[in-house]
Amino acid sequence: MHDFTQDLAALGASSLLRTRRVVAGAQGPLLDVDGRTTLSFCSNDYLGLANHPEIVAAGVRAADEYGMGAAASALISGHSMAHETLEHDLAAFTGMPRALYFSCGYMANIGVIGALVGAGDAVFLDRLSHASLIDGARLCGAQLRIFPHNNIERLEQVLARSKARRKLVVTDAVFSMDGDLAPLAELAELCGRHDAWLLVDDAHGFGVLGPQGRGSLAHAAVSAPHVICIGTLGKAAGVAGAFVAGDGGLIEWIMQRARTYMFSTASPPLLAAATSASLAIIARDQWRRARLTQLAAQLAQGLAGLPWQLLPSMTPIQPLIVGDNAGARALAQRLREQAIWVPAICPPTVPKGTARLRISLSAHHTPEHVAQLIGALQQAAEDLP
Ligand SMILES: *Cc1c(COP(=O)(O)O)cnc(C)c1O
Repeated sequence: MHDFTQDLAALGASSLLRTRRVVAGAQGPLLDVDGRTTLSFCSNDYLGLANHPEIVAAGVRAADEYGMGAAASALISGHSMAHETLEHDLAAFTGMPRALYFSCGYMANIGVIGALVGAGDAVFLDRLSHASLIDGARLCGAQLRIFPHNNIERLEQVLARSKARRKLVVTDAVFSMDGDLAPLAELAELCGRHDAWLLVDDAHGFGVLGPQGRGSLAHAAVSAPHVICIGTLGKAAGVAGAFVAGDGGLIEWIMQRARTYMFSTASPPLLAAATSASLAIIARDQWRRARLTQLAAQLAQGLAGLPWQLLPSMTPIQPLIVGDNAGARALAQRLREQAIWVPAICPPTVPKGTARLRISLSAHHTPEHVAQLIGALQQAAEDLP
């Protein structure tokens, strides 16, 4: 039997060992971590909905009505009225003809890519795409072509040369470690000219960008039959799950062929009901997006002039580039000693020499919370040797 002790030691030696910290109670700006109240800038709960009373109440009501488990795959008997309602709500929310609900974003990405392309086809993937898109592209059996980040010219060259039967271009809409946006209008136009589909993973734009938070495609005013949107519902929407939305025939095909949809138990109906409640709040509470904009401006102003560079980002993902791994880790550690939790992100997750603090803002932060973070970083800069 293989003994993993040495493998673990090797991970440790390369500073790649991860540890988990136990959070007691609900998500929010202040977390109870190991018995200590900690100010968190590390969640993807961008709108502050993960513990919203109306959403919790919708889930509890649905638990009374449906019980807990879905008991079967959606294609057998697991597709409840709550799931059906949510799919209609998601289609209406995104302005797409039809939506299909998955248990999570990882499963949606793997299932959707595998349903659309296979041997003889080609997937064109932005270099900074999320791990689940990379895995989906690797698993599907199609040829995989990686293009440089947001590089339309290079993508055009490989698309023009490709002899593949079907072509699928895949990208994050908001890149999770940089907070920058994909050029969706240009990508959609390019894909249209080269008879390719465009699959957009809007995990970090859904709920945050666009009118009423309708997502990155709405923000870029992009809508076309060859454009497919995947959104996740455990981040800004504050619940769990994911969806794919697009042309009606295409979504029907995905429902028939996506293996992660067909061969997985439907998620609990109460999650679908809670998500429907969340969509209504996302559309209604414009103040949550306004708060995010205000906090991002406060952060940029407060960190100007420090030795670390805040990347330009109009999203709640606000990366502070430190450079070397040890420096980023030391800075995160120092904040942690002051009960402020900001994760240090190091290579290989990000390119060498760009180790950073990934500050994520949420509408549940107050200006006082952000001022506390700014103060701690200013102090750390003054104490640099
Ligand atoms: C988080 C994330 C996913 C995975 O979604 P889950 O619902 O958490 O499985 C997929 N794509 C991107 C870009 C993400 O950030």
